[in-house]
Amino acid sequence: MRRALLWFKNDLRLDDHPALQAGLDAECLLPVFIFEPEQFELGALGSRPLGVHRARLLLESLAALDGALRQRGSHLLFLQGLAEQLIPQLTERFHLQEVLTLAEIAPDERRRLDRVSERLGPVELRELPSNGLLRAEQLPCEPIELPQVFSQFCPLIEQQLYVFQPRPAPEHLPPLPQGAEQLLRALPSLSQLGLGEPLSVAASAFPFAGGEVAGMARLRDYLWNSQNVRHYQQTRDGMIGSEYSSKFSPWLANGCLSPRRVAAELRRHEAQFGRNDSTHGLWVELLWREFFRWTLLRHGSALFQVGALKATANTPQQVDARFQQWCHGRTGMPLVDANMRELAATGYISNRGRQVVACYLVNDLQQDWRHGAAWFEEHLIDYDPASNWGNWAYLAGVACDPRYNHLFNALRQARQYDPEAVYVSLWLPELRHVPMHLRHTPFLLTHLQLGELNYPRLEQIPEAWTPYLPNAAA
Ligand SMILES: Cc1cc2nc3c(=O)[nH]c(=O)nc-3n(C[C@H](O)[C@H](O)[C@H](O)COP(=O)(O)OP(=O)(O)OC[C@H]3O[C@@H](n4cnc5c(N)ncnc54)[C@H](O)[C@@H]3O)c2cc1C
Repeated sequence: MRRALLWFKNDLRLDDHPALQAGLDAECLLPVFIFEPEQFELGALGSRPLGVHRARLLLESLAALDGALRQRGSHLLFLQGLAEQLIPQLTERFHLQEVLTLAEIAPDERRRLDRVSERLGPVELRELPSNGLLRAEQLPCEPIELPQVFSQFCPLIEQQLYVFQPRPAPEHLPPLPQGAEQLLRALPSLSQLGLGEPLSVAASAFPFAGGEVAGMARLRDYLWNSQNVRHYQQTRDGMIGSEYSSKFSPWLANGCLSPRRVAAELRRHEAQFGRNDSTHGLWVELLWREFFRWTLLRHGSALFQVGALKATANTPQQVDARFQQWCHGRTGMPLVDANMRELAATGYISNRGRQVVACYLVNDLQQDWRHGAAWFEEHLIDYDPASNWGNWAYLAGVACDPRYNHLFNALRQARQYDPEAVYVSLWLPELRHVPMHLRHTPFLLTHLQLGELNYPRLEQIPEAWTPYLPNAAA
């Protein structure tokens, strides 16, 4: 009988967990989570990887995981430090023969696994299939031969009839190694991690808690109770409230939900109630997630460079004061500012909002897209390296996409997706008393009026906005 360590990272669940399944027949199993110092250090692009909202959700997810392990006779050991030092110390101290964990796709995380493996000596580091939908052996071709453009990737994958059979959470777990109880500590608080406590915001589009139980409850609710999935195609461009989209992403990013569980439940829902545009639409979005995962695996650190995957791209390489204005929701373009304020206040914004602010940063403000991606990395509660950097590169026109870049007309977007200015009024209180027809265009007010509102003046009105200005629309 083996003695094993189970290293949790961004897979904070018991359901459909290949590494946990691989450890079930061990004589003893030590579940461990490590807070790495680099998660809290300023990165090269000036952001901190783990901002307060992300950290809050992470702590909630860890508390839920520890609770689920305790119900099954185990515990989660929390440690702070370098995995390559701590894991070999534990295997030696408790005579463990094997370390089980999920494989990684992002370059930094893969390098970390390599460092741990090197330091483990004869102890094996077993990497089990990670948080993707498809395993390499299920692909219709070699990973390297997968199409690099989504419009070709999607139909190729769709031709296969995948059957997802996630394994449910086990009822019992092997005991901890003898003596490991002495190392158990309480989960650190946000302030012990050197972070502030985020305020809870009533208007948040993600009013949920982290953790597997909450994630599974949302899955049940969205697919089975409210069945809001059946209207997804009509609501997905919304920006207000919890119901316009599934909100699965924060749980998927922390691994509290398995994408294979989501896909299996979606299939089960379609088998019972029928497939419609909306259920299919959600499936296609899960394939986007998958597409970006394989893209990251294939291109590795190139995805994080300014030219990303397109060497000829002519993308802005500068950052100046306009970047800070963008970060803090002070550009003078209300739809952009409202989204950036929502992001800072809650850690979540809609897909529509992400596209608008990303395109505005790159195309209108002419700033280096990687700084925007790094800001998202710090703040998004659903931050996921493949989806974040993949979407940013795609919108900045430096992914493997035939189109050069994605020009969004921010004012047109505002008119289309926030016609009554309800969204900007929600997040920009200073504009609530501006006449409704001017709330998307406060830059048309006089200097004096704008000064009284304490809202910044847009430096220059882009020519392309002319058809969407109030007098043009009248
Ligand atoms: C600039 C930019 C950055 C982004 N960064 C992230 C990120 O760090 N993490 C992240 O999970 N998503 C990211 N997205 C994708 C998308 O905005 C979110 O997945 C989505 O808004 C999450 O809300 P939801 O779960 O309600 O999505 P739904 O619309 O309900 O979609 C269901 C699921 O499909 C997947 N999905 C949907 N859209 C996309 C997409 N465009 N790319 C990849 N997967 C998708 C997600 O897993 C999502 O949970 C980003 C998009 C943009 C434009």
